[in-house]
Amino acid sequence: PEAITVQELANRMAEKAADLVKSLFKMGMVVTLNHTIDQDTAELLVEEFGHNIQRVSESDVDIDTTVDVDADETLKNRPPVVAIMGHVDHGKTSLLDALRGTDVVRGEAGGITQHIGAYQIKTKGGDLVTFLDTPGHEAFTEMRMRGANVTDIVILVVAGDDGLMPQTIEAINHTKAAGVPMIVAITKSDKPEFNPQKIRERLLEHEIIVEQMSGDVQDVEVSAKTGAGLQDLIDKILLQAELMELKSNPDRAAEATVIEAKLDKGKGPLATVLINRGTLKVGDIFVVGTQSGRVRAMLDDKGRQVKQAPPSLPVEVLGLGGVPMAGDTLTVVESEARAREVAAFRQEQATTKRTTSAPASLENMFSALA
Ligand code: GDP
Ligand code: MG
Repeated sequence: PEAITVQELANRMAEKAADLVKSLFKMGMVVTLNHTIDQDTAELLVEEFGHNIQRVSESDVDIDTTVDVDADETLKNRPPVVAIMGHVDHGKTSLLDALRGTDVVRGEAGGITQHIGAYQIKTKGGDLVTFLDTPGHEAFTEMRMRGANVTDIVILVVAGDDGLMPQTIEAINHTKAAGVPMIVAITKSDKPEFNPQKIRERLLEHEIIVEQMSGDVQDVEVSAKTGAGLQDLIDKILLQAELMELKSNPDRAAEATVIEAKLDKGKGPLATVLINRGTLKVGDIFVVGTQSGRVRAMLDDKGRQVKQAPPSLPVEVLGLGGVPMAGDTLTVVESEARAREVAAFRQEQATTKRTTSAPASLENMFSALA
């Protein structure tokens, strides 16, 4: 706001409104408590009363990643990040498990599964694909609203023995709104009631014209139970990814998105993050949401320690000062002092937002006035 009433200013300064009126009178202004004064006058009053003016603007303190764009020649291909969406019981978890089972690396490792919110597989051809483990539709929307659009491709799972259900339609709408390309997986192809044609026809009503209907949305029939169609699905993901030319700069300070976070009794605050650009390394100092920290260790989805995490790799990070929120951005910074400064600033901003109706502190008052 450009202006503030005398009473409001007095409240925020914790001074008597009558004293402000007197001061204004000395400056030649005759005002009442409900009178609005401009920002310059307000600042004069604040100086008069011996308070320090501290204008806090977000761009002065916080990290501004928008100015920090990577040059074309620094960009390298990165694996696609795929989210699986669809109606409850249509087979999302089963499909994710089946896809995880195709990982050639996991095969070698003997299949120890660490449950983190995302995993990466290496395909037979050596390509990497990252899958987000069932982000609830709410989480997907929430993260999108907070500007964290980590998903490159959505797999819409529809049970071929059922039909389009409310959450299927929700998923379609979210995906369209996010502008993310979709691949339709018609699943449970092993069932006698399997009727994929019915699904394709119903999808037309939602303006999704699959390849089998001469459209350009890829579709595939799969069974998580028998494994039929899985390789076909992987090939379609890779084809879609190739069309998208997904790239980012791996040779810079890392930036990652929190997929999920929790407090572990033994390990302390933990966050599963997905690297957007740069490479996250053990020892890196970072800010994540309102928390700061230093990477003490990183674990991949197979529970293995990793020293470095490149773009599109999901890792669990140890060494956070507190639990961040899903959708928060983790940014590597140059020093602990800088990390603490940014985290403190964000905490302050968060408090301001929570207490807008309560009497605000001086700093808050000036960030509000500015
Ligand atoms: P979600 O709620 O979408 O995660 O669905 P689930 O993966 O939990 O699957 C719901 C039910 O469908 C379970 O009983 C699964 O065993 C079954 N199911 C999932 N995929 C298949 C499939 O390809 N074939 C058959 N026959 N059953 C399946
Ligand atoms: Mg499930």
